[in-house]
Amino acid sequence: MLKYVPGMTSVVMEEIPRMVTLAVDISQCTGTCRGCHSPFLREDIGEPLTEEVVDSLIRDNYGVNCFLFLGEGRDPETLVNLCRHIKAAHGIKVALYSGREKVEEKLMREFDYVKVGPYIPEKGPLNVKTTNQRLYKVKAEGDEIFLEDMTPLFWRKGIDPNVAEK
Ligand code: SF4
Repeated sequence: MLKYVPGMTSVVMEEIPRMVTLAVDISQCTGTCRGCHSPFLREDIGEPLTEEVVDSLIRDNYGVNCFLFLGEGRDPETLVNLCRHIKAAHGIKVALYSGREKVEEKLMREFDYVKVGPYIPEKGPLNVKTTNQRLYKVKAEGDEIFLEDMTPLFWRKGIDPNVAEK
């Protein structure tokens, strides 16, 4: 089971460049980032994130074109199933913010965008050039997987979120 924190769910414009994104905080994080910004997300808190809940969140936030899992939780099978459900039922992009150094290719290819890298205070978050974190746009074609590093977009001022992503 995956759990999310309902009160933290919001529509965001910057986490995935040029997408209108519904961001959902997943609890039970197994990360150990030094300087973790949300230590409570390591706890077993929140409510079950099911297909019905996801459907309702997307319906209630009409117009979003990306669903973002902020964290992986502890149930990769449910994570993948929900990702596939969102694509099949709603036809929108799906993104994953992982705090891990690397994400298995098998998991990565399920998503349209994947962020990797733990938060390291002295290196900073995605929007500073010293960051160790990376956001990739993922394109899986047959056995091949192509990763486009979108991180430099976070270093430019004035990303226009209203420019449609292709
Ligand atoms: S990924 Fe890292 S920063 Fe995010 S909740 Fe988990 S431990 Fe904290």
